[in-house]
Amino acid sequence: MSSRRIGVMGGTFDPVHHGHLVAASEVQARFGLDEVVFVPTGQPWQKTDRVVTPAEDRYLMTVIATASNPVFSVSRVDIDRGGQTYTVDTLRDLRVQYPDDDLFFITGADALQQILTWRAADEVFANAHFIGVTRPGYRLDDDHLPPGKASLVEVTAMAISSTALRERVAGGEPVWYLVPDGVVRYIHKRGLYRADHD
Ligand code: ATP
Ligand code: MG
Repeated sequence: MSSRRIGVMGGTFDPVHHGHLVAASEVQARFGLDEVVFVPTGQPWQKTDRVVTPAEDRYLMTVIATASNPVFSVSRVDIDRGGQTYTVDTLRDLRVQYPDDDLFFITGADALQQILTWRAADEVFANAHFIGVTRPGYRLDDDHLPPGKASLVEVTAMAISSTALRERVAGGEPVWYLVPDGVVRYIHKRGLYRADHD
């Protein structure tokens, strides 16, 4: 069997939104990916300044958001490993599941800028091609990336962030049409992001 092309979209997804989904869809089409795997983080070390929503809620919202797309799937590797998520571990675990396939790690340009500070950057680059997607407010700068190991692509600007969505819910503003309908309903059902509790 010839190797398949697998996109890996890591994120906190607190909550997942249409910016994530458009970016994944755009990269999937442009790079001819056979599948895009969304990988919600365990307890993320970058976000020590706030309480992150329980992993199971973030996982379920990601499943709800991606369920109707036949080439999107969700992996539990980072959640089940527990603790802080390091991309090197994510790629190691996915490599076991996809031993013969080409992995494409999709990440926002903001995260790509920090890439060289990641734990085991060399192993990370050896295991996957990196695709940095633009997002509003971030300039692309590939000066410090290893040549041939990363691509930068501009995706349709979706000025949406999970931070802004959490603030909208806390402020009683609607999030309809910024996230999939099922995610709006899940947020309300579970009472996530409300100002009256953390
Ligand atoms: P937060 O505001 O909590 O940081 P976020 O909206 O940045 O959340 P993450 O879960 O941190 O969402 O993002 C996962 C990945 O998706 C990251 O690589 C991030 O750069 C990328 N991303 C987030 N929002 C967008 C967007 N609107 N367009 C394209 N990529 C995005
Ligand atoms: Mg972010």
